Amino acid sequence: MSFISGLKCRECGREFPAEPLNVCDFCFGPLEVVYDYATISEVISHDRISSGPLSIWRYQDLLPASGEDPVDIMAGFTPLMKARNLGKRLGLNNLYIKNDSVNPSFSFKDRVVSVASTKAVEFGFDTLACASTGNLACSVAAHSARAGVRSYVFIPWDLETGKIVGAAVYGPTLVSVEGTYDEVNRLCSELADNYPWAFVNINMRPYYAEGSKTLGYEVAEQLDWRLPDHVVIPSASGAMFTKIWKGFNELACLGLLDGVEASSFGPDQNTVHHPAVTTRMHMAQAEGCSPIVSAWANGQAHVLPVRPNTIAKSLAIGNPADGIYAIRVLNESGGTATAVPEPEVVEGIKLLAETEGIFTETAGGVTVSALKSLAESGAIQPDELAVVYITGNGLKTLEAVDSVVNPLSIKPTMRSFEGALNERIGVGG
Ligand SMILES: *Cc1c(COP(=O)(O)O)cnc(C)c1O
Ligand SMILES: [Zn+2]
Repeated sequence: MSFISGLKCRECGREFPAEPLNVCDFCFGPLEVVYDYATISEVISHDRISSGPLSIWRYQDLLPASGEDPVDIMAGFTPLMKARNLGKRLGLNNLYIKNDSVNPSFSFKDRVVSVASTKAVEFGFDTLACASTGNLACSVAAHSARAGVRSYVFIPWDLETGKIVGAAVYGPTLVSVEGTYDEVNRLCSELADNYPWAFVNINMRPYYAEGSKTLGYEVAEQLDWRLPDHVVIPSASGAMFTKIWKGFNELACLGLLDGVEASSFGPDQNTVHHPAVTTRMHMAQAEGCSPIVSAWANGQAHVLPVRPNTIAKSLAIGNPADGIYAIRVLNESGGTATAVPEPEVVEGIKLLAETEGIFTETAGGVTVSALKSLAESGAIQPDELAVVYITGNGLKTLEAVDSVVNPLSIKPTMRSFEGALNERIGVGG
């Protein structure tokens, strides 16, 4: 079972039943899941969580779908590791990497899709669909295969081969659209009104987005139920950014953080900020698509859409659905937002690979480069505890880094090897 009582409009507060709905028909505001926190607080405990499955479903009491028989390819429960080498390079003594690139379909999207597809099956849908910047397509196709349902995944035509193949291999109907993600998304919104399909990030969006809260829960659990001083998070729609914050605050309100008293959720439960949550939320976008960063930097509460032109295609959303809520979180948490210059995206990928042995995709390059500039500016102090979220896998964006390939090309003889080596290191030549 799940402890949800319905949906609620984030703008006008109107309540709706828990159905496949994402927009308020009164004010067009986005809908969000409402939980019965009073009941949750009676059942939830550290023991109950730690005796749960080694996946996001250990937090099922705080998810909007039933964890009894979920559509599960074991999303989540990914490593949090101390980054000594990268930390040393950046002057940070307490730096951790949340490595979500090792999820089953190689990005954090498995968390949100496991929740959305479980809910879709619960609603009786026999077809899953999505509008994707790449990783979502892979994850929806994978979870559809696991659930034994059909899927239609819509992607912009210009994605990396790793993402196209990484989705197609699971057997979905792959639809390549001549347009940007924002155009794909507009098309899919129209389709969602006309086809009886569960579009995970459209009509299922309120349930889907909640899956990202597990990125907050897991980090807290892995730090022995403490929160970091800083987190650095890549953003496209801004949903993950807001949900990690929500996850931290839920843990505080439920009394699940070390040394923090439980407290009530207040009248508008979904925007509560518990005073014990002092984590600064830092957002990273690539300069070629940084509408949320620009709005925050200009002190605007609203986001002006842009036309993306970035190497970080998984973050290429020009009109971010959760932009205004992400700005609120930036302000509430005392965080910052960084637009990473395009050439520094690949540098970030290489820096992480060379220091920590983790190969991330372009979104991770954006995040690591943003972290670097936060360390250099002093926004993160040397002894503060910082967590950087690495959300996708480098094998999906090989094109971005093919310049690293520069082998010694030799004949199968010792003489040839030594000749080539000498030439490379500049001796004996
Ligand atoms: C989708 C995606 C994001 C951004 O997620 P939002 O919730 O839309 O902000 C970040 N990193 C990777 C690798 C992604 O695929
Ligand atoms: Zn409304």
